Amino acid sequence: LQAEKLTSLGLLAAGVAHEVNTPLAVISNYIQMLAKQLPAGDARQSLIDKIVKQTFRASEIVNHLLNFSRTGAAEFQPVSLNHVVEETLSLLKHPLRTGHVQVIRNLSPELPAVLGSGNRLQQVFLNLFLNARDAMPSGGMLEVRSTSYNGTVEVEVTDTGAGISGEDLARIFDPFFTTKATARGTGLGLSVSYGIIKEHAGKIEVRSTPGKGTSFRLEFPTATGKVVHA
Ligand code: ADP
Repeated sequence: LQAEKLTSLGLLAAGVAHEVNTPLAVISNYIQMLAKQLPAGDARQSLIDKIVKQTFRASEIVNHLLNFSRTGAAEFQPVSLNHVVEETLSLLKHPLRTGHVQVIRNLSPELPAVLGSGNRLQQVFLNLFLNARDAMPSGGMLEVRSTSYNGTVEVEVTDTGAGISGEDLARIFDPFFTTKATARGTGLGLSVSYGIIKEHAGKIEVRSTPGKGTSFRLEFPTATGKVVHA
């Protein structure tokens, strides 16, 4: 009974979160349009900044609710990371194209499944791909490679963007660490991704050369030999 109650509360939370997120995104878009119409140095800019900040804050709270409602090992099932990658790329088709980001797929056709939640893993790739795009303001290449070896599935996401300084590299997984403008970055993408990867018994590693690009390597245990459903 307790579990059932939790599930329906979770569904309710997810539904509410989704319903609230959509108008928040619309508010945020219009406010950013208004901000662009203000002459430089206009005192009203600070009012707009406050609205943007609070809209982001509301959206963060809602996203936490959404994440919270999705937790629970019960939802874990064998998932194809190739499929998650493809789905995420197709969601981002438009922003990647307008950002002149060329996508290179190097996906192993025989990739074993991992045990997890497709929704939450999608959030990880969404964050990685959008960060890659943001790191390449005048375009570049985004390569996604997947492979597997002794019980491990590996996905590597590489961009030809600005790269990350040694000093920043130590902080990118910290909640609220961002080098982006307030209206663009919350600094939550990588910390939330890190949490999701840990939840999937995975690992994430980053390598970066300033001026050349960045590569995130993700590792997960394969689902085979792990699925012990009665
Ligand atoms: P946000 O995207 O909101 O800033 P994240 O937690 O996703 O938050 O990222 C934190 C910071 O890590 C970014 O602001 C950026 O400085 C750095 N970063 C993440 N991914 C990349 C990348 N692919 N290339 C360069 N810098 C990156």
